[in-house]
Amino acid sequence: MKTTLSTEQLTLLLAAILSLCLALMPPLVIYVGGVKSERANLAVEAQIHAQSITELVNRNPELWQTMTVGLEQILRSRAGDDTPEIRAVHNLSGEEVAQYADPLDGPFYFTASDKIYDAGQVVAQLTITRSQVPLLLDTLMVGTISLLLALGFFLFLKFKPLADLRKSQEELESLAMNDVLTGLLNRFAFHHRSQQMLLTAARRQEKVAMLFMDLNKFKQVNDTLGHEIGDALLIEVAHRLRASVRECDIVARLGGDEFVVVLTGVEGQGAVGVVAEKIAASLREPFLLAGKTISSSASIGIAISPADGRSLAELRTNADLAMYHAKELGEGGYQFFTADMNQSNLNRMALKQDMKDALMRDEFILHYQPQIDVLSGQVCGVEALVRWQHPVKGLVPPLSFIAAAEESGLILPLGDWVLNAACRQLRQWLDAGVTGLRMSVNVSPRQFEAEAFLSKVHGVLAQYALPSALLELEVTEGVMFKNPKKAIEQMRHLRMMGVHLSIDDFGTGYSSLSYLRELPVTRLKLDKSLIQNIETDPGTLAICKATIRLSADLGLDVVAEGVETLEQIHTLKRIRCPVVQGYYFSKPLPSEALLRFVSQNKADYVVGANGASMGEMVRPETTAHTSHLKLVATG
Ligand code: C2E
Ligand code: MG
Ligand code: MG
Repeated sequence: MKTTLSTEQLTLLLAAILSLCLALMPPLVIYVGGVKSERANLAVEAQIHAQSITELVNRNPELWQTMTVGLEQILRSRAGDDTPEIRAVHNLSGEEVAQYADPLDGPFYFTASDKIYDAGQVVAQLTITRSQVPLLLDTLMVGTISLLLALGFFLFLKFKPLADLRKSQEELESLAMNDVLTGLLNRFAFHHRSQQMLLTAARRQEKVAMLFMDLNKFKQVNDTLGHEIGDALLIEVAHRLRASVRECDIVARLGGDEFVVVLTGVEGQGAVGVVAEKIAASLREPFLLAGKTISSSASIGIAISPADGRSLAELRTNADLAMYHAKELGEGGYQFFTADMNQSNLNRMALKQDMKDALMRDEFILHYQPQIDVLSGQVCGVEALVRWQHPVKGLVPPLSFIAAAEESGLILPLGDWVLNAACRQLRQWLDAGVTGLRMSVNVSPRQFEAEAFLSKVHGVLAQYALPSALLELEVTEGVMFKNPKKAIEQMRHLRMMGVHLSIDDFGTGYSSLSYLRELPVTRLKLDKSLIQNIETDPGTLAICKATIRLSADLGLDVVAEGVETLEQIHTLKRIRCPVVQGYYFSKPLPSEALLRFVSQNKADYVVGANGASMGEMVRPETTAHTSHLKLVATG
């Protein structure tokens, strides 16, 4: 089995090895050195003693034979009583000598021997034995000191770097687990902790409630008051959330203004509702940030396990769906998940998120569809139509996302982008010498109602130094639904600015000729559904005719949308429709293609003077970058 050591364990092991070396080295050096020099000393001593005895024996040969005792005395006088030398004189073996030795001296003996001669004959052997105890005592003392030093060293190595390591590790862990701005758990930690919480709860057969929320108007705060205030708001929201739940509950920020709270061991909807209300109420309280009072609120969606999902993913999705419903029901409330919150909602939400990202990644583009003046044959304007250049889905048409954008409020930033991009384009065309084109921009009701709309229009015209009459805003009758008075007021202001206004898709839904007089608009756009039937349905033809006549009386311009055939053009010309737009001339085109269209006069054709006879295509003669198109009479 292969085991790997953690950095902490490795550091500890290294510290232990270093300290052990420090503890062992000095006593080892002392001991080995001591032994070596002691052995040398002993050998020298033994030799000196043997020499002196040899001299004595040689001088008095009979002494050796008779007077071992005398030798004893001599030695005793030189070396003292009961010394190893005395014992050795009797030629006792080392072990026997040890018996006489002081038990305190223990078994630690070094021996060194030398021979004693008498007239060249070895008569005895002198063995000097010495105890090792003093050396061991020295070694022990040095060992103790170095052991203490090593211990200190070890503790230093152990705690200092480990403390540093642990500190940085803790910092790292905290970075990985916590949201830097608010200090709440981040997306990763939320996932991890909730997963654990769900497992524990399932084992104990408890319920877990997941509360998803995002702040209403957060983007507005960020955009109008700046990111610092936006950040301060998020931090304060985090505080309030933490203060609204128990210590053991999870509170996390998933990014942006999205927060999630996970409650464990909950009784049921009643108890969760109490917490949700507490949270909602605390977030409805005004926020005092940098001296400014800001009001905010959160829409909260709730899913409770196991009924609303056993897995984290399921709970998340359902809580998210419920949040979406809470948003629809009005700001600052909460909603429990119910089974009928269906897949289409989910798709809408995914679309919303995708669009948010698309705005950041600048994936939207504008195409321009020419509008042709029936009498002069000139391209008199273009309609800017947004498209989404999706990295996976390719070019996505507006009908697939405008409604979702409108619903989610994303239409506001998207609309701003469109208005700006269209005006920038117009400025570029003007600079390139392309004149006589009016730019029509579609404006959604939500955009139109917004307080800042007027100043935005004003701002963008100023930014690109555009004559206001070159801009036309297309609104649908939808702008009148909520607050007709306010809508009319808004229209008046825009007209006063000099901006043109048109009613888009006229003839669908609630179109009423009677209120046209009230509206300060400059144009009607006959919806393509009318044009499509104009040839076949006399009723439709009558409506178009009446609308065009009334508009003329009121001084209003009319554009027929969705013109696809030459027959339709003839009819429209006959009933005096002044401007036409449709695939017959061109689909909406990217800027360069639109310019090519204008310069090549693709729309040049021949038509009966009163529209009665069929026309034939003729090749254009016009030069580049002019918006001139000819309608040549043949009949
Ligand atoms: P709309 O404003 O009525 O734009 C006309 C739509 O009819 C365009 O569709 C255009 O491509 C299409 N069209 C033009 N000529 C013909 C034709 O001969 N036959 C047929 N069948 N269709 C024709 P598109 O570009 O798909 O836009 C659809 C709608 O999306 C627009 O209807 C408008 O309501 C909305 N939209 C487009 N761009 C924007 C925008 O920037 N902001 C807002 N708020 N809405 C936009
Ligand atoms: Mg339009
Ligand atoms: Mg339309």
